[in-house]
Amino acid sequence: MKYKTLLAKKYLNTFLINCIGLRKIPIPAIEWIDNIKLQFIFSTESSFNLQYRCLEFSKMLRKMGVGPYQANCYIMGCDKTSEGLVIDPGDEVLRIVEEISRNSLKIRQILITHGHIDHIGAAKELRDITKAPVLIHSLDAPALNFPPDGHLQDGQKIEVGHYSITAIHTPGHSPGGMCFYAPGAVFTGDTLFAGSIGRTDFAGGNHQQLIEGVIKKIFPLGDDIRVYPGHGPATTVGRERLTNPFFRMSQTP
Ligand SMILES: [Zn+2]
Ligand SMILES: [Zn+2]
Repeated sequence: MKYKTLLAKKYLNTFLINCIGLRKIPIPAIEWIDNIKLQFIFSTESSFNLQYRCLEFSKMLRKMGVGPYQANCYIMGCDKTSEGLVIDPGDEVLRIVEEISRNSLKIRQILITHGHIDHIGAAKELRDITKAPVLIHSLDAPALNFPPDGHLQDGQKIEVGHYSITAIHTPGHSPGGMCFYAPGAVFTGDTLFAGSIGRTDFAGGNHQQLIEGVIKKIFPLGDDIRVYPGHGPATTVGRERLTNPFFRMSQTP
């Protein structure tokens, strides 16, 4: 699949993107490519030529695969205040700090989806450098080799610049597993991946809890919400709700 280069914001709402290459019609008809929200408009018979309309750009968001497990570390920033947060600094603190500097961000929060080493490995170093507090659910806090600055609870709001992020407790991959919802996007850690879910055979894991948590707390966020998982590519809530094999089975009456 190939996309013509997406240009500047001035094309918002009018720019049509031709997608060249064989692919299925997207489900749902709203898609994200990089940080751009697109609405599917038109396809030729062969579906070699799809057209999208650009709806909006997401917030300043960087995704970096870090460490040997290539856990996704996300850096999110407020364009207006240049305040930002980091989700899951798993490793490679220097690369993370470089990216923060490149975007001239003042990091205000370090959020941890869960206490596995590939997601927390650089948390202490990043805290020492940025002086931002590290927040994690109390049930996963013992995995850190330092006391966190705060414990996350289900429904807690975290304000960064003009953004409000909501912490959602989704145990199952680990007892203190959290997802983070920001308008338009949800960061799911190792709870939900594109086409799969996290392992539940670690200590404290629970398959049923994970499935129920996603169905009750993530799916209701809306089909066009972008899902940023702890490993692998981004997806959408709708795509996972309709095509993820772990949920297709669960939702069959
Ligand atoms: Zn994990
Ligand atoms: Zn992981």
